Amino acid sequence: MKSNILLENYCKTLKLPTVSREYGRLARQCAQENRGYAAFLQNLLELEVQSRQTKAVIRRIKEAGFPAEKDVSGFDFTALPKLNKKRILDLSGCEFIRKRECAVLIGPPGVGKTHLAIALGREACRRGLRVKFHTATGLATEYAEAREEKTVLKLERAIERRDLIILDELGYVPLGQNAAENLFGFFSKCYERISVILTTNLPFSHWPQIFGDERLTGALLDRLTHRVHVVEMKGESYRLGGRKAKEKGGNQQAEEE
Ligand code: ADP
Ligand code: MG
Repeated sequence: MKSNILLENYCKTLKLPTVSREYGRLARQCAQENRGYAAFLQNLLELEVQSRQTKAVIRRIKEAGFPAEKDVSGFDFTALPKLNKKRILDLSGCEFIRKRECAVLIGPPGVGKTHLAIALGREACRRGLRVKFHTATGLATEYAEAREEKTVLKLERAIERRDLIILDELGYVPLGQNAAENLFGFFSKCYERISVILTTNLPFSHWPQIFGDERLTGALLDRLTHRVHVVEMKGESYRLGGRKAKEKGGNQQAEEE
């Protein structure tokens, strides 16, 4: 089929690049298979819709700013026998995010907290949700800079546009008073409006150490634990485990970042 300039211009005006690219091939195929006009049109529009959805997922994943590509399918559950796999698979259905609930992944370094947080975040992106990944100190710094530049409202609007915020590595570094206050502000903004996935090495009882204030930490935990999914990840560091296995001549491969 010769290219049809007028048709391609209409596609441009209507922003239908896949229709423009695929109509010729699909028309030939439908003619060969004796499929009617309605089937042709339906098939063609399906291709356009699918391509848009794929692009939207890629865009949402890019905008989320994940530090690595991790998925639930790449998570080795045998490394953490005490972790309830079904519970993680349930969380990856992302219903909790739609319900504006939070999840806290607690465990020592290297057990895969960040891996699972990213995996859940990417799953959310695939399901049409808007996500942003921050480290706790990174977000505290963004707040501090925004205060200096008087752009806190802009930062908060960007936060409010998301369905899920991932806050990684809370507790690795004690927060200064300003950082603690900024993160309190962040949690108040999110309360019952935006889902948060938090990763931390410290159990809730140690959180006053992170925030440096018993009373405010109490208030924060009261809100956070109102509707929260606590995932305890107890076990050995996956990286160390992998290394040990290699030293022993085992074939378990640790993913190095
Ligand atoms: P944490 O955030 O708990 O310190 P990470 O998620 O950064 O740990 O994990 C460290 C590295 O080990 C990452 O590359 C991660 O993908 C990998 N990893 C950890 N646990 C697992 C697991 N159970 N299955 C597959 N990879 C894992
Ligand atoms: Mg981590």
